Amino acid sequence: MNAPDTPGHQPESTKTGRRDMGLRTWLRHLAATQRLAVARPGMPLEFGVAGLANRLDGTRALIVPRPRGGENGTVVSGLLSRREWMAEALGIEPEALLPEFQRAAACPIPSIEVTKAPCQDLVHEDIDLTRLLPIPTHNEHDSGAYITAGLMICRDPRTGVQNVSIHRLQVSGPRELGALLLPRHTLSYFTAAEEAGNDLEVAIVIGASPACMLASQAIVPMDVDELEIAGALGGAPLEVARCLGKDILVPAESEIVIEGRLLANTLRPEGPFGEFPQYYGPRADRHVIEVDCVTTRQSPLFHTIVGGGLEHLILGGIPREATILNTVQAMFPNVRNVHLAPGGTCRYHLYVQMKPRHPGEVKNVILGAFAAHYDIKHVVVVDEDVDIFDAEMVEWAIATRFQADKDLIVISGSQGSKLDPSTDEGFGAKMGIDATAAIDAPPFRFKRISVPGEKEIDIDNVLDVDAKIGDLLRD
Ligand code: MN
Repeated sequence: MNAPDTPGHQPESTKTGRRDMGLRTWLRHLAATQRLAVARPGMPLEFGVAGLANRLDGTRALIVPRPRGGENGTVVSGLLSRREWMAEALGIEPEALLPEFQRAAACPIPSIEVTKAPCQDLVHEDIDLTRLLPIPTHNEHDSGAYITAGLMICRDPRTGVQNVSIHRLQVSGPRELGALLLPRHTLSYFTAAEEAGNDLEVAIVIGASPACMLASQAIVPMDVDELEIAGALGGAPLEVARCLGKDILVPAESEIVIEGRLLANTLRPEGPFGEFPQYYGPRADRHVIEVDCVTTRQSPLFHTIVGGGLEHLILGGIPREATILNTVQAMFPNVRNVHLAPGGTCRYHLYVQMKPRHPGEVKNVILGAFAAHYDIKHVVVVDEDVDIFDAEMVEWAIATRFQADKDLIVISGSQGSKLDPSTDEGFGAKMGIDATAAIDAPPFRFKRISVPGEKEIDIDNVLDVDAKIGDLLRD
């Protein structure tokens, strides 16, 4: 990196007027603010990169130049492992994350096509994926090296609209990837192609901007191009380039583009692989991608997301929160905010902050929240004076405002997450906890104690770092 450090916020491109940061700008910004760790060359691709990334998870992003097993490449990880970082990369305040995401998902901005794209600086047609790219192996029982931060972009054969999603991609051969396609938009596009007797063209984009990464996880109807949501997140159209051999538009500023085809009528073994709930997804016959071409920047950065790490959890969590907040607020406008807590894998534990208006209303909110997404397993509702981003504060509310014989809801035999191993293939129980203060209680009874002026104390100014401790504590 030879560009100057950028301590302040730098827009992606003054030409396009975007306010978010591109991947390299964001990395330089992290470095300039002491949040980017650089590994010595030779860190092993097998377990070494993931181990180091896990140790730094949530505190520093990681860049690994010339790893062992991928000497010509550079790996980056943990770039977006805190929600404040995500907001910072998008050029907004942390409190604005959900409203901004809601706005972007509701009002996408069409991309603009450019003819010259950095992601196509180098073209590789003689392909051996593990020689070409530094692809790590993460967890002990993973079946091998995996591409985990690749945006899979494909086009609906029926409507021509693009879809963007992230799938775990097992490196199965020199030019073959195994893909897990859950029953969502990509699988629907693929099934349509397969029924017509065709493969489905795909592009896998590695090293995309923070806005593209977050937008890819939007829970929006089929035939919404998530790149257009990335455009709206940055406040201006995203620049895209046409693939060399496929009719697919990819973010022009990305690092690596793998062009290939999801093969019709082909399934081969994939897995096991360490997934977001901190368990292995099992080995099974899954879809196969044949790679035709790889294009990259000069000296591309290979982004990897370690399964179950904060980067993985938060990327999925924020768009889900935005969708859940939409759904719940449509019924209960007095719900102020929601949070999918990292301790609940950013999927299973929902904290709801609200101002209850009627006796019993909190239980209705709990039922509404369960309906908003089947992954939600436990809901805790708290008052407006409880910070839902602080798990200890939520626990305090449960400790002091909850009585299990009347404030608890348990629902048996409902649909949950198949990746929760305590369920029977997703069939399991829900629990709701009303940890709000009784609505008719005298206000002083539930008033949290506070020291006037505590928050405003300027610690560095007040504390005497030069004090002589010996003089103060003389016998
Ligand atoms: Mn979609």
